[in-house]
Amino acid sequence: MDGPLHKRRRSVLSLLAAGGLLCVGSLWWFETATGIIAEFDRYAYPALMLVFICSLVILRLFPKRFSLALLGCYFGASLYFVAAITTFTLLQAQNNLYIVANTLQWMPLIYVAAFVLFQQRHAIVLSGGVFLASVVPSCLTLLLKGPGFWSLELGALLINAGAVHLLVILSLSFFTVLHAQFEQARVKAAVMESSAHTDPLTGVANRRGMEAAFRRIQADPAHSTVLVLLDVDYFKSVNDRFGHYAGDEVLRWVASSITSQLRPGDLVGRWGGEEFVIAAPNTSLSDGVQLAERIRQVICAKEHLIAGPVTISAGLAAWTSALSVEEALRSADHALYLAKANGRNRIEAIKDPQVLRPLARQVTA
Ligand code: GH3
Ligand code: MG
Ligand code: MG
Repeated sequence: MDGPLHKRRRSVLSLLAAGGLLCVGSLWWFETATGIIAEFDRYAYPALMLVFICSLVILRLFPKRFSLALLGCYFGASLYFVAAITTFTLLQAQNNLYIVANTLQWMPLIYVAAFVLFQQRHAIVLSGGVFLASVVPSCLTLLLKGPGFWSLELGALLINAGAVHLLVILSLSFFTVLHAQFEQARVKAAVMESSAHTDPLTGVANRRGMEAAFRRIQADPAHSTVLVLLDVDYFKSVNDRFGHYAGDEVLRWVASSITSQLRPGDLVGRWGGEEFVIAAPNTSLSDGVQLAERIRQVICAKEHLIAGPVTISAGLAAWTSALSVEEALRSADHALYLAKANGRNRIEAIKDPQVLRPLARQVTA
């Protein structure tokens, strides 16, 4: 209930109530001082100010009673506008251009407030309701009774204001519908983007996700990253002995064991098959070895429920801006190859990936 959206709505209502209080107070003072205040407003302005003050007090002292403050404030202000327009045009037919124009010019604020404070459908009903109860009867009366009932200026003002108010409500409705559709599309795009970068089996990043992460790391020319390529030992035999489904379970289990050992900022992804890649930014090679060793031990120490003992081998390489990510990955892959060749369930690190460079160039040449 007290989420950031609710807090924002409370702040907006407080702002509107305080602004309303200030405006109505100023109008009351000005119109009284100049003697142009309508008899209706002499009592209605203070009543409206009281509504705003009560809403502000409720919001300040009883924040949980937000709905009471909201409804009090909104219906208080709406009632004022309906009563004022009815009084000035239909009941007293004062033909006072200033009073009617002044009331009509403030009314769009109540429509905007409805769209800011209420859900879209409620806002359409509420703003439409105020419009139908206030401006429409006056316009209809004018049309039915003809120009003799009011002065030509007042009639033209009412018709103009009616059209403007209607357009304001329609614009707000279209805007909120478009905004909702835009938000929906934005959320959908974010979900699609996230699933395009996520491995559905293990929930960690997929190859595309890690490639995007590498690009982000690479953007910092001073980065000092450790790359770890991590491969499940004899995984084919897990599939062969316990079936593909059990193999999938082991992959999920390995992924969550890796994730449990990562530090904030470290990234992991499934590089393919039973191979994972870790990128540990701002990390020295020895810290990277410690991280990989921790992961190896955690996996080695527990037995998987179905597959029993599972081990991993890992190869590490330091990656700085002196190397491309492909070169660093090739070094890590070479280290992984050494870990496998040296008996598996172990970690190997390439201290100076540059050493492998001429070899790699030769191979690709
Ligand atoms: P090594 O210790 O040398 O890494 O041996 P290994 O058996 O782990 O390696 P190998 O490359 O021979 O086998 C990897 C196996 O991983 C073969 C493939 O069927 C299996 N595999 C790849 N992706 C998946 C997957 O998504 N689910 C399951 N269950 N198995 C997979
Ligand atoms: Mg393997
Ligand atoms: Mg493999």
